[in-house]
Amino acid sequence: MMKIAFFDTKKYDISSFEKYKTHSIDFKFFETRLNEDTASLCKGYDVACVFVNDDVNSKVIDDLYSYGVKLIALRCAGFNNVDIKHAEGKITVVRVPAYSPYAVAEHAIAMLLTHVRNTHKAYIRTKGYNFSLNGLCGFDLHGKTVGVVGTGKIGRIFIDICRGFGMRVLAYDKYRKNDDDTEYTTLENLFKSADIISMHCPLTEDTYHMINENTIRMMKKGVVIVNTSRGALIDTEDLIEGIKSKKIGGACLDVYEEGADVFYEDYSSDIIDDDTLAILLSMPNVLVTSHQAFLTNEALENIAETTVKNINDFFLHGKCENQVTI
Ligand code: NAD
Repeated sequence: MMKIAFFDTKKYDISSFEKYKTHSIDFKFFETRLNEDTASLCKGYDVACVFVNDDVNSKVIDDLYSYGVKLIALRCAGFNNVDIKHAEGKITVVRVPAYSPYAVAEHAIAMLLTHVRNTHKAYIRTKGYNFSLNGLCGFDLHGKTVGVVGTGKIGRIFIDICRGFGMRVLAYDKYRKNDDDTEYTTLENLFKSADIISMHCPLTEDTYHMINENTIRMMKKGVVIVNTSRGALIDTEDLIEGIKSKKIGGACLDVYEEGADVFYEDYSSDIIDDDTLAILLSMPNVLVTSHQAFLTNEALENIAETTVKNINDFFLHGKCENQVTI
């Protein structure tokens, strides 16, 4: 019997994985995140199945190794929360490279439309029988220039949708492939020319705080920034200054640098100890969602299917195409 310990699980994870339970696979769903304090829960398990906010550092890897865990199966694409170098030679790490790029691209568009047409404000108004239109005036996306940073799976779908709106697309990708008809430019020119900037590159040393005081200074007045990638692509303090000075006209954030501390949990009855987030949430032109861009039925099904296949491939065939460790 293969035993898999799932960490940081929510109801929707459990329902997407339950159907894969068989007499030879045992699932244990822990709500808690995997970290140094909870690693001991892995005793007796073959696999630790983790998500974006589990902290799989070198100490956790050593503990898991000593308990006989053979595989760390990520239910996501990014693996910046796992010390891959430390895992090499001890525990194999696998991931789900893509589950639904459409989900993320469509969420970026949903946030952008919500912002430019004030639908979130209208929804609340009409629920309270306030049918006034004052303050709800938006702007057309048609004819605007959108700057797309990162033209991988999600960025390309986002571009296609923007074209459907009749927007001009400018793109920047450090490792661009010459196999599409997108108009590429320098990052500087993109920042200078775009009415809307949407981030779709990964978080790396290169891209950390790519949007900061200096780059914001280059941008057009009133620019709308959409980030569905990783929070630390943006220096949040600089973003707030940009919004206060009215240089930035709007921010649609599905991710936030310190998001790991609060996102996915219900703190509606608590006082949150995060003044930066409180300032962002107080701003009328900032829209925050809680890292939910991936959350569609299709994505959850793909995550479960690929994760189970990764685990089976590793244990039955000794190798897996989605292996992150060498
Ligand atoms: P991808 O690997 O297909 O595409 C990323 C693109 O970024 C590639 O084309 C790459 O060349 C480019 N890139 C790399 N370094 C760059 C740099 N320094 N400057 C500009 N471009 C650079 O990845 P994807 O599937 O399109 O995902 C993009 C990002 O979306 C992921 O890295 C992840 O952070 C984020 N994501 C968010 C959610 C969510 O729920 N919010 C879900 C999935 C992925």
